[in-house]
Amino acid sequence: MAEIEKLLEGYKVFYEKNFVLNDGDAFKDIQTSQSPKTLIIACCDSRVDPVILTNAKIGDIFVIRNIANLVPPYQPMWDSNHGTSAAIEFAVNHLKVKHIVVMGHSNCGGIKALVDDDIDINKEFSFITDWIRIAKKIKEDIPKDLTNEEKYIFCEQAGIKVSLKNLMTFPFVKEKTQNKTLKLHGWYFSLKDGSLSTLNKEADKFEKTDISL
Ligand SMILES: [Zn+2]
Repeated sequence: MAEIEKLLEGYKVFYEKNFVLNDGDAFKDIQTSQSPKTLIIACCDSRVDPVILTNAKIGDIFVIRNIANLVPPYQPMWDSNHGTSAAIEFAVNHLKVKHIVVMGHSNCGGIKALVDDDIDINKEFSFITDWIRIAKKIKEDIPKDLTNEEKYIFCEQAGIKVSLKNLMTFPFVKEKTQNKTLKLHGWYFSLKDGSLSTLNKEADKFEKTDISL
């Protein structure tokens, strides 16, 4: 129970900071509705929380997290549940976010499983196996001369591009990007050096953001 008690203690700190010391000021504007301008689609990985990594405040970001930050293609009649697609629909059509960021990361277990084929569909990972197949094409494009570490980075970044491409299969995303009311971004966070790289779409490569303050 120590783990849960630690979290509940953390909640008390949060409550004291936001509701006792500031008299709930942080929530005054967002008590009845939210109006985030950005949707971030990130991995479930405990080390890459987009709210923490962007120093965002409550209400700033609408967040979707799933295994390997993947976006499935638009499949309205697909006979399965669509958690990610439903959240994209809500963010774009209801909240009218102006930006969608797909944020991948280094040392991603989901991408590694896809690259290494080390998930046994007959055992306990049948959901993951199906899910990560969304990005299976990236394996065909892996350059031959990469080291193991470079191979995973290549695939993690290629997975971000797959998600960005699949986002464009959603008619409402395509329409809003074409009329420039919505912009798509690819970000890559490295746990190795803490760097954040952004996708330069014209050059088709990720470039480290300037961290000089
Ligand atoms: Zn991951």
